[in-house]
Amino acid sequence: MTRLLPPLASHVIRGAGDLIAPRAKGAGRLCILNYHRIMAAPDPLLDGEPNVETFEWQMRLLSECFNVLPLHDAIQLLDSARMPARAVAITFDDGYRSIHDLALPVLAKYGLPATVFVTTGHMSEKGSMWNDMILEAVRRLPDGALDLRALGLERYPMGSAEERKRTARQLTERCKYMSLPARAEFTDHLQTLAGVPLRQDLMLDNDMLRTLAANRIEIGGHTVSHPILTRLDDEAARREIADNKRQLEEVIGRPVRLFAYPNGKRGQDYDARHAQMVADAGYAAAFTTAPGAATRRDPRYELPRSRPWDDTPLMFAARLLHWLHGKV
Ligand SMILES: [Zn+2]
Repeated sequence: MTRLLPPLASHVIRGAGDLIAPRAKGAGRLCILNYHRIMAAPDPLLDGEPNVETFEWQMRLLSECFNVLPLHDAIQLLDSARMPARAVAITFDDGYRSIHDLALPVLAKYGLPATVFVTTGHMSEKGSMWNDMILEAVRRLPDGALDLRALGLERYPMGSAEERKRTARQLTERCKYMSLPARAEFTDHLQTLAGVPLRQDLMLDNDMLRTLAANRIEIGGHTVSHPILTRLDDEAARREIADNKRQLEEVIGRPVRLFAYPNGKRGQDYDARHAQMVADAGYAAAFTTAPGAATRRDPRYELPRSRPWDDTPLMFAARLLHWLHGKV
């Protein structure tokens, strides 16, 4: 059942949001929400990702209590010190098909704009993201233990959903910082063990991308193959950023203006060189996964994004207000 806010609570949230909005010129804050995937039904291995019912009450709450802005417009308002109170923007990373199939109808229902940061190397027939290959393999491997000691890893328990979730998380963390060839070799190995064919239907295709772009969804860049940029030499990093932008522009026929760093932690996943490369590629702004709301003082190519993890509407709204109040 969809969770709804009582009418009085919407009033209170709006009032509180107006009250905490900074009065000083240029001090307005913008909360940029970062979603990835929307699930058709709750998934015990991916319980951090909202299912479509959760997403629906969150969008309804945003439409009733906050000012949801197109991200590119919001950046200009941030720049010109004209940010309205309770300002929020919605983003999705990676380019999952569920943005088209499940999120778009909800966004359209409430008239909300959003931005999708797309990794072009995994689109449609090219396959799945490496983390989803791990997840699908772990989901299907037989009960018992997954012994990867021959690969310099460990022996992972594989029984309950909780154990499988932990195993998938540990393997994902180990894989995240491998070189691209080592990562591909590892996921191939897991697929062979699990006997799972590659899923071909998880990511957006070109037609879906065009449909999104025609329906108030801005398409942003997220590299070609979702590497950790700090693990690449400069030439390869520059190519990942520039090729992805060009590929997306060829599909949608308009400029791609916004970029999100894969994984998004400063110093660990990207650094000042990559921010410069993103600017050189012609992007107007770029986004990290640092917590809190964005302000005019944040560097234009390192704007933070956060998503409340709370599972009740009141706590979800309270956390957004907390960030908009300047707390992290
Ligand atoms: Zn990503």
